[in-house]
Amino acid sequence: MKIIISMLMLISLQMCSQVKQSQNKEVMENSATKNNPYYSRTDRTKLNVPNSEWRKILSPDLYAIAREADTERPFTGKYNDFDELGDYYCAVCGNHLFRSDAKFSSTCGWPSFFEADKEGTAYKRDSSHGMERIEVVCKRCDSHLGHVFNDGPPPTGTRYCMNSVSLEFVGDSEKK
Ligand code: FE
Repeated sequence: MKIIISMLMLISLQMCSQVKQSQNKEVMENSATKNNPYYSRTDRTKLNVPNSEWRKILSPDLYAIAREADTERPFTGKYNDFDELGDYYCAVCGNHLFRSDAKFSSTCGWPSFFEADKEGTAYKRDSSHGMERIEVVCKRCDSHLGHVFNDGPPPTGTRYCMNSVSLEFVGDSEKK
């Protein structure tokens, strides 16, 4: 009898910890938008928010890539091997960046697009790491998104090589 009671107690303890874990996951997934007063998918007004403020709002991964131009490891990003229909927004501020029909299967290890929303993206010269590259940033919040190259497919010949972490996908089916 004692064994049965202790086994039941163990099972209920495990269930409690599982519930807690799933609640935490939900909070983490929504934290970018819930606790971010600058986030908007409709307002395109330029933001001028210092990094000291972004550091309080963004997850450490997003802060490192978006605000310190870090790069996610190739073939690890959630949108690298992903082809659903919808739109890609800035994970920092919600600005519209790409449409899924401009995404193509690239072998480089990062989500790639042949065309960007011109109202959503801007460019900067990047001479870091001994290379001459063109950095792509969000036009609204100035966050680092990735780089752009001229070896993309038709019709543009352009390849926007992006970090999944900097992007937030919203599927067409979610917008109804
Ligand atoms: Fe942004």
